[in-house]
Amino acid sequence: MMAFASSIIPSISSWQVGISLINPATIPDDLVRPGHIFPLRARIGGVLKRAGHTEAGVDLARLAGLYPAGVICEIQNPDGSMARLPQLVKYAQEHNLKLISIADLISYRLKYDRFVYRESVCKFPSQFGDFQIYAYCNALDKTEHLAIVKGDPAELATKPVLVRMHSECLTGDALGSMRCDCRMQLQAALKMIEAHGLGVVVYLRQEGRGIGLVNKLKAYTLQDMGLDTVEANERLGFPADLRDYGMGAQILNDLSVKQIRLITNNPRKIAGLKGYGLEIVDRLPLLIEATDYNSVYLATKAKKLGHLLLQTYLITVAVSWQSETTSPEARYEKLDKIRYLAQENGFLVQEEARPIAIALFSNADLIFHLGFDQINLANAYWYQDCEHPYLQGVMGILDNLVASLNTSRLEFLIAPGGDPMNSLQIKLDRQNYSLSQKPSALCNTIESQIIYSFSRIETYNN
Ligand SMILES: [Zn+2]
Repeated sequence: MMAFASSIIPSISSWQVGISLINPATIPDDLVRPGHIFPLRARIGGVLKRAGHTEAGVDLARLAGLYPAGVICEIQNPDGSMARLPQLVKYAQEHNLKLISIADLISYRLKYDRFVYRESVCKFPSQFGDFQIYAYCNALDKTEHLAIVKGDPAELATKPVLVRMHSECLTGDALGSMRCDCRMQLQAALKMIEAHGLGVVVYLRQEGRGIGLVNKLKAYTLQDMGLDTVEANERLGFPADLRDYGMGAQILNDLSVKQIRLITNNPRKIAGLKGYGLEIVDRLPLLIEATDYNSVYLATKAKKLGHLLLQTYLITVAVSWQSETTSPEARYEKLDKIRYLAQENGFLVQEEARPIAIALFSNADLIFHLGFDQINLANAYWYQDCEHPYLQGVMGILDNLVASLNTSRLEFLIAPGGDPMNSLQIKLDRQNYSLSQKPSALCNTIESQIIYSFSRIETYNN
């Protein structure tokens, strides 16, 4: 792969020299040396490896189906200075030439040029269910990536597919680090996909969002000194998110996925996937269980990277089911139903697992908040107006859950906007009702700092 550089407008003879130089039959004696043509060697991988003119020349020839070699030349203005883009645009118009930038070529190649190849497929029984695992190799940098696939491969092309893009995190995924939520995200995604029966986790082996393991650990050192995640990466000179979804898109193309239900809490990831022939038909929030260890991390990520964590809290709901329904699959199915109910009303769901909440709701099977990902979307007294659309939406969801046959207990606590776990009174009142009653009947009397409890036990308070 070669290109020939010349700073003059090439004459017929220089074209001829270039052509003879790439002819495999040419021997050194055929060429006059030193000449005025400078041979350059393009990097393997072309502009995706090095965004240079040499690579661009060779890529263009190859994409045109020709021998990967070319002649590059810089165009001079009549006064002898080098032509810059505005002059080149004019020059191209004058001579009816096509003009592209190296950036155009890079984005074209990322979209249409394949560099990720399937190497192997095997069965992958895991503690989260039975999957197939596909191994891929990136021909440009020899990195290896995985797709963990659930369901009939033929259906991947014909149905919307649950997809999670996961970036490798050795410390989280494999070593159980509590500095981040990567392992929980991965496991939650695998469980969601197992429960749905059709889906793909694209596992991109780009450690620490592409900054590498050593740099990630250096960022941890900075965090130990008091910086937060985003600041620590910025201190090391890395932008907050380096992930390249071109690779993930090629893996999905190989699996024939067309329509995606993307599992993400990160609005930016969606923009990263557009333009690869993949249509995102739905976006499912990943339910992250906040713990004592990761709650500060989650809050930082939400604030700085625009992750979809709740900023306005409306209500905390705790549900328990009859024992036969508490398998992980059943639980995720329930969560998904709740998510759909919430989505219909424009609410987001966030799972709650902090010890204070577990203690407050006496070991419920599932505790979640309903709310919004933006701050100050509800005034502090929103729950006092029966006609308020938020209250009607919330009550509709509660009525639905209470009426469900498998529910054995449902409790809720109203939030006046902020995180309710941060503003609890020392002793909360608890009011008990029967599951045969509708929570919406309480609508005119709802207060914050009271736990409303609906259970099979027929206790009434007055
Ligand atoms: Zn991690």
